[in-house]
Amino acid sequence: MIIIVSHDIDNLSAKDHFLKDKIILREISRSFSDFRRKKITLKVLFKRLSGLLRKGFWSNLEEMLKFDKENKVNSTFFIAVSKGKGINYSQKEAQIAINLIKDYGFDVGVHGIYYDNYELIKREYEDFKRLSKLEKFGIRIHHLKLNNKTLSNLARAGYLFDTTVLSSNLDQEYKIDEMTEIPFHVMDVRLLGYHKNLTLEQAKENTIKLLERAERENKKYFSMLLHDRRFSNYFPDFKEWYIWFINYCKERNYQFGNYVDLL
Ligand SMILES: [Zn+2]
Repeated sequence: MIIIVSHDIDNLSAKDHFLKDKIILREISRSFSDFRRKKITLKVLFKRLSGLLRKGFWSNLEEMLKFDKENKVNSTFFIAVSKGKGINYSQKEAQIAINLIKDYGFDVGVHGIYYDNYELIKREYEDFKRLSKLEKFGIRIHHLKLNNKTLSNLARAGYLFDTTVLSSNLDQEYKIDEMTEIPFHVMDVRLLGYHKNLTLEQAKENTIKLLERAERENKKYFSMLLHDRRFSNYFPDFKEWYIWFINYCKERNYQFGNYVDLL
């Protein structure tokens, strides 16, 4: 079974948010709530509150790239070229990040904002093509937004693959015109996020159950998402879950591949 690891880049710096949107206020209230619900310790609460204006609270792209490289995890990064809900970095910042990801030798695609307007979908595709200088690439849409025309419009725009569909049923890849839809199966925030109350141990158990089912059903691949932002000591459960996941896959001798390897 091939394990496909992916990372969505929603943030690149603190300055993109400070006095520019309400996301910092949201983080303060969520941190207190996480503490009240005993999801984080007092130490982590203080760390978060004092880290709100630090880059590492928002972005851990380099740490993620280094970890994946060292562990031979052939991951895919999705980066936005438009601003959207909670995403506020410029195309110039995006381009620097794209070049960094390419320098590390990893695949990079679009973290899409538009899903219900073909002209905007196409513009986003062209913007990424120009900035990345790549000819073929895939996409995952931010907040997994889809309507009944999105996938065919992504295919029409020229995307090689899409991986916006989150399937807890372990659905495998299928064609939409020339494009391949590659559903993914586990997302960090659905297990450990603010709206969930799973402990780290429960998140691991959940993940193991899905992996075992995938193996039992002879699935070709299993795909997961960790936001690079969560790969930090501000979010210890997320980071620990990810490192555990990678080690677990290594112990089971699963191969790491990226979306392009599957096509
Ligand atoms: Zn996103």
